[in-house]
Amino acid sequence: MLEDRYCPHCQAKLQSWIGPPESGWGEILVCNNNECTFFRNSNCDIRNKDEDNSLGCRYAEDPDNGYQSFNLLAWYKF
Ligand SMILES: [Zn+2]
Repeated sequence: MLEDRYCPHCQAKLQSWIGPPESGWGEILVCNNNECTFFRNSNCDIRNKDEDNSLGCRYAEDPDNGYQSFNLLAWYKF
């Protein structure tokens, strides 16, 4: 079992997510809150933006790497 971890930006509980095999990640923890200030204000390069879809960075931590935080590039649909 992974520890309960909470997003430092919105205090939502991070949810476990299994990365795609090609990513090399195992199980990671991700903030899935679409209202998260980190996600809303993510300063990743946003390309391919269209009316329906947006790309942003979600806050994520890697349990295999001492819960080091990183940016998970993700798309979401409104
Ligand atoms: Zn968050």
